[in-house]
This record gives sequence, structure tokens and C-alpha cells, in this order.
Amino acid sequence: MRLIVATLLLCVLLSVRLASAEPASWRYVVKLDSLARASIQLSLRGVRSQRVCVDMSGAGRFVHRVEQLLAGGKAVALPVHDECWTLKDTGSLSATLRYEYDLASAADAFGNADYVQRLGSAVTFSDEAVLLRPDPLPKETPSPTIEVEFALASGLHLTAPWLRLPGPALRFRLDAAQYDGGSYITVGNFRSLGSIALPHASVELFLIGQAKASDQALRTWIEQAARLSDDFYGELMPASVHIVLFAMSGHSRPGVFGTVMRPMRPSLVIFFGADAAQLSLHDDWLAPHEIFHIGNPLLKYKIPWLAEGATTYYQDVLRGRSRALSVEETWSDLWDGFYRHCQTDGPSLRTESEQLRRTHRYSRVYWGGACMLALVDIEIRIRSKGKRSLDDVLRELRKKSLVQPLDEDDVISALEHATTKGLLTRYLDMPGKLPVREVLRSIGVEPISPDRVQLRDDAPFASIRRAMF
Ligand SMILES: [Zn+2]
Repeated sequence: MRLIVATLLLCVLLSVRLASAEPASWRYVVKLDSLARASIQLSLRGVRSQRVCVDMSGAGRFVHRVEQLLAGGKAVALPVHDECWTLKDTGSLSATLRYEYDLASAADAFGNADYVQRLGSAVTFSDEAVLLRPDPLPKETPSPTIEVEFALASGLHLTAPWLRLPGPALRFRLDAAQYDGGSYITVGNFRSLGSIALPHASVELFLIGQAKASDQALRTWIEQAARLSDDFYGELMPASVHIVLFAMSGHSRPGVFGTVMRPMRPSLVIFFGADAAQLSLHDDWLAPHEIFHIGNPLLKYKIPWLAEGATTYYQDVLRGRSRALSVEETWSDLWDGFYRHCQTDGPSLRTESEQLRRTHRYSRVYWGGACMLALVDIEIRIRSKGKRSLDDVLRELRKKSLVQPLDEDDVISALEHATTKGLLTRYLDMPGKLPVREVLRSIGVEPISPDRVQLRDDAPFASIRRAMF
């Protein structure tokens, strides 16, 4: 009896201890006296990790003077190993640290917004390169809350894709899942171009630098590009989208280069030609491409043939649907990419995709993936007699991935469920040419040169083609 009472008492005590365990959260205060250096204080609460790390490998050498503040105000320097700093064991789940970050040297070394990049009189950096995180990153549900407060020297402005908290202080809230997906933060001299309200999303738009195009022309360009994705994803479109435009002097193309981070509050940096007077989707695939990425399925690891293949395919398909390109122009542009990159001899698409980081054969993977997914799209439409398409499968994958990120097998099985078992695997692993000419001919797309096609309505599946865009 006494044993039972004692056991019960122990259970009660344990459950009280568990119930009162503080959920993990952490908070940064980032002081920027200039664009050259940040002083950062990090306060961890309820975090079980024994160390903090820089998430983007290689960025650790710009982190200096990492100290933990102990009770009584004493500060102790923390030992570093492999871009991680080991905390003092104080027997508590709370700790406060401070460190310095050399933004100027990091910008010189990387010149890349995925780390730190100087853009005119502003600096754009990734939170994962600058803000140390507990290691391992807590992944419980709900995702731990993170707060970031910035204290800026006068004359500096800052924008981030995160939820702005009310009050005069520049405070934001995000969570560990958002941190894990990454965010672009811009600080310095830039202007807001306002927000763009779409049916399912609000786009916050900013401009760094001077452009020949008017603010209105820039807004219209991005609005048209974002609307393509908003129409495509519908309710699945991320509700808040953050875009920083950087005017590149000496360039006259509209879209020059773009980069995107795609957690639930995605952020993009789009480099465009400062000399471009007109920015129309007829001449620009880049903005539609980068924005389409924000609704890609969430994946456990990178699958370039899927993410880049689908996005490259739809950068044209969606412009065709909106008539920014004529139907013939759309197929001609698709054919141009397919002809050059889907018709090659050499390693299979899966091999090229796996080796992309080493080989940098981007066009092969982007356009090879687009070509394979075009064949899959056509197959889905033919098999379902026009009731379903790749649009449906991609939206289903996105929806499923919001519950649990997907791996390559999940993606392949969904695509093969909509087509024929073994088809996609065969295309992925096939060295050499896919049967793209034959399939295109069957829907009445007749190549007449390496970059032009003629449309025919007497092909067996011409009605399928007409339903695509
Ligand atoms: Zn891309």
C-alpha cells in the first residue's frame, strides 16, 4: 500500500514537473551601429541544447567574442568547435549569450545574400548565417517561438519577412520552422514600394537603388508575376510574401537573377536591370519563376529535378495561360529548352540532379526536369481524359508536405499514381533522350526549328494541348 502511495506521489510530482517545463523559446537583440558590424544578444529559455551553432556552414569565422553571461554579471568566453559554441553547464535550461558579427568581412567574403551581400547602400543577409541557433534546432510542435529585436543607428532602415510586433521597437516574431527555412533581412538604405494585395496573398515590396522604370512599373511587373502563382496555388499560396528588388546598373534586362527562401513566410531578392524601362512578363521569365518557387512542396532535402523542373515548366505555362506569351510563343520557348536539354546523350536526369551541386549543369537539370514533367502533365491529361493535370498533383503534394515534408519516393509515387507505375522512374533513370518529339507531335506541337514550333489541330490529342493554355 505504502509503495502504491509512493509511486502515485512520484507520478504526480513528475507530471507537475513536466507540465511546468517551460516551452523552448529564444530571443535575439541585434544592435547595428553601422552596416559593418552587429552586436547580438541571444537569450535561450527552456532550451535543452548544450551548444549554439551557425547554421550556414562557413559563416562561423565571422562570429567573434562569443560569451555566456552568468549569474552575477560575469561573462565567460565559450569554446568553439566546428562553428558551434558549447554552453557552460549551469544546470538550467536558460542561458544568455552575446557575440559580435563582422558583416563587412562576411559581405566581402561571400557577396551572396544566402550569407551576407552588400547591395548598393544596403546589406542583405540570411538569418541562418548571422543568428546563432541552439543545436540541434528544436523541432517540436508547435514550433518554438523566436523573437528578434533590432536596435539601429539613426539613418538605417530594416525589413524582414517576419511578423512585426506592435510598439515603437523594431520587434518581430517567427518560429523555429521559419528559421529552418531561412529569411532574407535587408538593412540600410532602401525604399518601400508598398504592398500588393492579391486574392490569397499580400506582397510587401521594397527597392534598393535607382531604376529607370517608375515605381508603378516595378509594382505592376511584380504584381503580374505574383498573380500567376496566386491563381495557380489558390488557398495554398503563402499569405505573406516579402520581395526586395535590387536595381543592377549596367543591365537592361528586366529579371537578371533571383533567389528565394521558402518557409511559410517566404522572402525573395530579385535583381533587375536598372536600365530596363519596360518590365513585361513577355520578356521576363525570372520573376514568375522565383515567385512560383514559394509554393513548391516542402521537401526533406533538395530534389532539383522536381523543384527546378516544375518551376521552369510553369514559368512558361503560366505566362501562356495569362497570354503574356502567345500559345505559339509559349510552346516555342518550351521546345527551345527541351531541344537543348532533354535531347542530350549522357547521364540520366536523376544522376544529373544528384550531382548538380558539383557539376553546376543547371540548364540540363532545370530544362530536363521541365521536359520530363511536361511529358508527365500530358500523360496525366490523356489518361484522365482531361479531368486532371500536373497542376492537381503539384497542389496535392504541396498540401501533403505542409503536414510532413516529403522525400523523393513520396514525390515519385504521387506522380506515378497519376500516370503509370514505373513511367517516371524510367524517365528519371533513362540515359539519353526522352521521347519528347513523339509526345509533342501527338498533341499537335510540331517542331520546325530548334526554337520554333507550329501548332496543328489535326493531331490525335490536339484537344489536350488546347486545354493546357
Ligand atoms: Zn529556380
